Amino acid sequence: MKNTLYIVVPCYNEEACLDETTKRLLDKLKQLISSQVIAKDSRIVYIDDGSKDQTWSKIENLKSPVIGIKLSRNRGHQNALLAGLMYAKDHADIVISMDADLQDDINAIDKMLEKYKDGYEIVYGVRSERKTDSAFKRNTALAFYKIMNVLGAEVVYNSADYRLMSKRALEELSQYKEVNLFLRGLVPLIGLKSAEVEYPRAERFAGESKYPVKKMVKFAWDGITSFSIKPIRFVLWLGIIIFIISLIVTIYALITKLTGNAVSGWTFTTCSIWILGGLQMASLGLVGEYIGKIYAESKARPRYVIEKIVEHK
Ligand code: UDP
Ligand code: MG
Repeated sequence: MKNTLYIVVPCYNEEACLDETTKRLLDKLKQLISSQVIAKDSRIVYIDDGSKDQTWSKIENLKSPVIGIKLSRNRGHQNALLAGLMYAKDHADIVISMDADLQDDINAIDKMLEKYKDGYEIVYGVRSERKTDSAFKRNTALAFYKIMNVLGAEVVYNSADYRLMSKRALEELSQYKEVNLFLRGLVPLIGLKSAEVEYPRAERFAGESKYPVKKMVKFAWDGITSFSIKPIRFVLWLGIIIFIISLIVTIYALITKLTGNAVSGWTFTTCSIWILGGLQMASLGLVGEYIGKIYAESKARPRYVIEKIVEHK
């Protein structure tokens, strides 16, 4: 079995982490090569996501087995990661993606590779604890995973972008052409045999998080709106419910009028507001349903992934 491993690491203003990350990754690579778990032509791929500090000049000066890819400008973590994955898929058999800040435990790579040997195509790194994250980050992240799953996107709980993917899985991933990238939601869509590996999440080695609250909210919003049309359906149902309530209100208004307790004009105004409100919202939801369909079509996702074909002759 061929087993060339590429470790893909997106970097944005990571000059403070880069030396240590490189040192540890090289050690790991050496250890895995000498124990013949991976092939000699395995590599580390750094993607510079338009950093404004010395990140690129550091990457540029590194030697084999490090490969550097420089994006023309900052395109965000997900795009940088995809650039690296798509590059690696043409050269490697196994690709592991991780962050540059050493928050992901490098030793989990061994366990991921074991799973790969057992025939798994995708191995998710799952955080066993998040003690090192602030309470705010931990709770918002938790709420996010819950909401995503309620809304219908299958995100693997507590897993970020630390994962192993086989060449095959990456080739399937490359069929997803959408521009609003949310890899955590896309990878589970591929299907194929997958496993999880737990690891404790460490503190950032140096520098500060490149995901301030504003970016985090945008990321979460992208995730939800790229994977679910449930918010649109909610509007439709709200409209239908309001319309049903409006019928009750109409009956109530008519009774009030007939018993002579209504001021002139009140019945008409009240009924109009409720009925129109309900109809408008329901229509909006209906239009939204079509927009949702158009949205799904425009993403042109593959309709299926074939795992195996058995032909009996
Ligand atoms: N990153 C990137 N482009 C960006 C923001 C972040 O390539 O616009 C990289 C960053 O260098 C790191 C990874 O994405 O390797 C995760 O970022 P970070 O560790 O800051 O996120 P956190 O762990 O705080 O959620
Ligand atoms: Mg981090």
